[in-house]
Amino acid sequence: MDRVRHTAGLSWGRYPRATHTRILPVTWRSDPPPLEGVRETVLPHACGRSYGDSCLNAGGALLDATGLDRFISFDQAAGLLRCEAGVTLAEILALMVPRGWFLPVLPGTRWVSVGGAIANDIHGKNHHRAGSFGAHVTAFELLRSSGERLVCAPDRNPELFRATIGGLGLTGLILWAELRLVRVPGAGIAMERVRYPALGAFFELSAQDAEYEYTVAWVDCLARGRRLGRGVYMRGDHAELPGATPSPLRRPTLRVPADAPSLLLNRWTLSVFNAAYYVGAPRTLRRTVVPYDRFFFPLDGVDGWNRLYGPRGFVQYQCVVPEDHPEALRALLERVSHSGQAAGLGVLKRFGQAPPAGLLSFPRPGFTLAVDIAFRGERTLDLLEVLDTIVRHAGGAVYPAKDARMSAESFRAFFPHLEAFRAQADPRFSSSFWRRVSAA
Ligand SMILES: Cc1cc2nc3c(=O)[nH]c(=O)nc-3n(C[C@H](O)[C@H](O)[C@H](O)COP(=O)(O)OP(=O)(O)OC[C@H]3O[C@@H](n4cnc5c(N)ncnc54)[C@H](O)[C@@H]3O)c2cc1C
Repeated sequence: MDRVRHTAGLSWGRYPRATHTRILPVTWRSDPPPLEGVRETVLPHACGRSYGDSCLNAGGALLDATGLDRFISFDQAAGLLRCEAGVTLAEILALMVPRGWFLPVLPGTRWVSVGGAIANDIHGKNHHRAGSFGAHVTAFELLRSSGERLVCAPDRNPELFRATIGGLGLTGLILWAELRLVRVPGAGIAMERVRYPALGAFFELSAQDAEYEYTVAWVDCLARGRRLGRGVYMRGDHAELPGATPSPLRRPTLRVPADAPSLLLNRWTLSVFNAAYYVGAPRTLRRTVVPYDRFFFPLDGVDGWNRLYGPRGFVQYQCVVPEDHPEALRALLERVSHSGQAAGLGVLKRFGQAPPAGLLSFPRPGFTLAVDIAFRGERTLDLLEVLDTIVRHAGGAVYPAKDARMSAESFRAFFPHLEAFRAQADPRFSSSFWRRVSAA
């Protein structure tokens, strides 16, 4: 309950804000709230780590899934973990890493629920090897608004299975799920890090991605001209960790106590920060073994860092463009850096060839770029619309989990299986995002 109370009217980007009619706690998977009697639309909500409005349902009700927080079973021989949908990835890591098991796909924060990870079919730094989260889900149970409960798997209710993976919480409430974990030698990541001077050098480095489990680059979104796209490239593999295993349930000691003044993150402060980050990284590949949490979740080190963007909040723009359109990536970075709108370090990565696990899955082959932009009203919305146009022309897509404003026209272009999905959506489930993008 605690987690949802903080985020019920807000998502991680704190834009937009929504008022909900009520929050219905879900505590027992055997006795979920009867949805037949609820007049307004409903939407599952868990940790609220989605940035925009896909986890909000303005004018409707939220189903707080965080109370579904129990582990159910673990098959040690097959690595199959069954747990309720509100269990967080942090809780799974805390239990499983000491036993030599790891989650097959991890996002940039550990405070994400299993249900949320399925509903956005999240991806990690190993998409080129492992595909998305949904590819490792072997089954789940779905509660529909009719009260019907359906076990879904690749060979059981397969249409609903494919629609629910990446289905944005619109096909029903996931009560529990079964995931296939992977074996690891320890709690470390053998990491290599190097700075690179421009986008061309990133393309060269990422051409070797297949040799490593995890790869990602932090990109300086303010760099222009011959420095466009410069950044710090990282890659890594699982390794033994000498010393203590990290404790993922530990809360950070650093905390942003209140909304920062919105002027704090301006072009000047961010340029200084970005330059320092770049210069501080090694010129040639340097290898160290680090605890896995430092490699995967650097932002989790500061509690409430999303408040740094001030009271108006921020948006994260994440898109993917096909590999044969590198000029689109260049154009996106140019637009962002010349817009003068505060965007600090972005994330750049090459997605692999894995087929999409769900009908509305975002990951697809190509380069994905994620950029934080402080929300400044129309100026920001205009910039994002220009970015959408570049992505549309390149045949790419924008990530719904991070979105708060894409048009219905863009959504249709980015997600060609929309009509097949609509046939599986639950008529009583809806979200602020869905009402916008599914408008005729
Ligand atoms: C710092 C940070 C880094 C991130 N890095 C990544 C990344 O690397 N890769 C990536 O893909 N994403 C990333 N994300 C986004 C995040 O992984 C997703 O938004 C994720 O879905 C959030 O899960 P949640 O538990 O917070 O769900 P919420 O945000 O509360 O909800 C997300 C969606 O899941 C649905 N949902 C939740 N529970 C259920 C349920 N039980 N049944 C059915 N539907 C449900 C909701 O209706 C909603 O549509 C990041 C987010 C942050 C804040």
